[in-house]
Amino acid sequence: MNATTYDPKQIDLNNAQTDGALKDAVIVITGAGDGIGRAAALDFARAGAHLVLIGRTQSKLEAVYDEIEAISSTQPILLPFDLNELSIDNAQDIAVAIEREFGRLDGLLLNASVLGSKMSIAQYPANQWQEVMQVNLNSAFYLTQGLLPLMQHSENGRIIFTTSSVGRRGRAYWGAYAVSKFATEGLMQTLAEELENTSRIRTHCINPGGTRSNMRALAYPAEDPTKLPLPADHMPFYRYLMSAYSQAYNGISWDARDFLPDVNS
Ligand code: NAP
Repeated sequence: MNATTYDPKQIDLNNAQTDGALKDAVIVITGAGDGIGRAAALDFARAGAHLVLIGRTQSKLEAVYDEIEAISSTQPILLPFDLNELSIDNAQDIAVAIEREFGRLDGLLLNASVLGSKMSIAQYPANQWQEVMQVNLNSAFYLTQGLLPLMQHSENGRIIFTTSSVGRRGRAYWGAYAVSKFATEGLMQTLAEELENTSRIRTHCINPGGTRSNMRALAYPAEDPTKLPLPADHMPFYRYLMSAYSQAYNGISWDARDFLPDVNS
């Protein structure tokens, strides 16, 4: 039985911080061109992973590619793709390409999201509702279903979804974004229970909490960004959760802020 709750004081991130902690792991990251996804791509590459990077803006992915080439011996595969257009067929095509290249998949970090409008449910535009649900939730389901068979060959498979505080307790004017994150939590919990006894795949949600990024600036334009942690500050925890060291946990909604150094000291 895996642990389904956690005490941050009992978790030691240090073992996972060596350069080889993700050696030869094959990991897909969505939203890898910017913010938290970009930081994860750089960190996982430094830890030895082979990466498949999905993002909307090709030039941003290419910039991440150049950075990874400079810090690691691996070369990521770039998949510029608008997740608003992703179908289950596309996800299966991605699986075929990864199988051909690597033969398996060890990690899936479902990180890409859009904020949508911050307005009341009474006024929320229906077309935007659909876009937010497609990018934040449906694309995560398609990629999970499409890539799951490849992950069955992994020793320590990880599917990590990204949520938010507004996906745990409803908050006025957060509209489709909040609802998509509630649904993401439900998808993760359902999947975690299904996979618990039938595979070594472990499934989690991470809530990064307020973190300096374009999305955060869009959501809180009056906030001083220098008061927020950087995406890179969360990476010791992201790396730990992606690594074999976290195998004893499953189905957890984590708060990344619990693992920031000043929070635990
Ligand atoms: P960000 O800087 O805006 O990054 C989001 C990434 O997702 C970008 O690389 C973006 O690509 C990509 N993306 C958006 N729509 C896409 C689409 N249709 N197709 C493909 N890629 C798409 O945001 P972030 O703060 O790093 O957010 C990362 C995750 O953390 C999200 O799931 C967010 O909900 C969650 N989160 C963040 C905070 C925070 O304070 N930052 C708090 C709670 C939760 P482009 O750059 O090319 O547009």
